[in-house]
Amino acid sequence: MQDVQTWLADHQAQMANELETLCNLNSGSDSLIGLSQVANWLTEYFEPISSIVERIELPSYELLDEQAVIRSQATGPALRWNIPGSAPGKKKRLLLTIHYDTVYGPENPFQVCERYEDIGPGGQPELRMRGPGVIDAKGGIVVLRWAVLAAKKFLDLSHIDLSIVLTPDEEIGSPASSHLWQRIASTFDFAMLYEPCLADGSMVSNRKGTGTFVVVARGKAAHSGRNFREGRNAVTLACQMALAMDALNGERPNVTINVGRIRGGEAVNVVPDLAVLHVNVRVSNREDQTWIESQMQQVGQRFNAPESGYRVEITGGIKSPPKNVDETTTIWMEQIERAGFQIGESISWKLSGGASDGNKLSALGLPNIDTFGPEGDLLHSDQEWVRLSSLPRKALLTAAVIKGQCV
Ligand SMILES: [Zn+2]
Repeated sequence: MQDVQTWLADHQAQMANELETLCNLNSGSDSLIGLSQVANWLTEYFEPISSIVERIELPSYELLDEQAVIRSQATGPALRWNIPGSAPGKKKRLLLTIHYDTVYGPENPFQVCERYEDIGPGGQPELRMRGPGVIDAKGGIVVLRWAVLAAKKFLDLSHIDLSIVLTPDEEIGSPASSHLWQRIASTFDFAMLYEPCLADGSMVSNRKGTGTFVVVARGKAAHSGRNFREGRNAVTLACQMALAMDALNGERPNVTINVGRIRGGEAVNVVPDLAVLHVNVRVSNREDQTWIESQMQQVGQRFNAPESGYRVEITGGIKSPPKNVDETTTIWMEQIERAGFQIGESISWKLSGGASDGNKLSALGLPNIDTFGPEGDLLHSDQEWVRLSSLPRKALLTAAVIKGQCV
């Protein structure tokens, strides 16, 4: 792997420049124009790997707006490249995937990358880049591309069917690309996802499951002076439900319930007839998932009282089930550790409370590891940064893992 290592290290400056260009192009999950522009850019960027790109149009998804009205929202295309192995017979089928949307919309002030020097883990100065999506997950796109370029140049890929898929909606829970996952997950043996590894370089083994419940509380509007008693206050109803849901915290050790948003009411002299709650939950296993789903429904039923003029509807739920290491994944983890050893990287594993598309793929029966991306920290904030030296190092790790599958 020495020649691959040298070749990738020699291209670190180019990788950093490409990452800067890509991150300076906005592709917030809701920006159709941005997503389409970045999809075009990526089509060209992956041209050296394959000139045949599949531009997969995804279905629109439904969104509940602030007035509790369901709206249909379109998203960008998924992009797919196939690199089929030339050997006859059964081959290893690998999926390499990551998202190209970010949490930063076009209105967000954080739009441009900036390079700087900081102190690295060994106390030595190191080059970093701060910018929107530098690790989540555009840095992963750059790592993925260079890993495949290196694999094509240096390795014999004839016994591997490799596919690359880039998706436009992971940061909002993959409401559209989950349809694509359902269709293609079973056609692969293993998936490698390019979410960032943890700040200390650790990769993620188990991930919590997560989802958001949307609770719509409806009452009856009335003038707060003339006929206050005829009103049914949806905001206070929502507040009572929020407290009931929050009280579920602590009932099970690994379940958390976060009442993250509550909206309702307009003029203060009107009894509000509508309030919408968004409640994000995290669970560690299927039992906890079933438990919290039933608890949330019970709270809804307790406060739903049409005879008194109050109505409650609960939608949403856990769309990313918990991702726990199974037997096949354990074998892959050992292979990744071995690949790491061959290139002088020691691989360590940690748990994470955050979810990724890896949760969805694993629920669909596709074993995967989802932290092949670069090192950095503070994603989802305007301080998101990447360690530039990790771009070639992480590309090398992927190449080493693929090499382990070549025979
Ligand atoms: Zn993210």
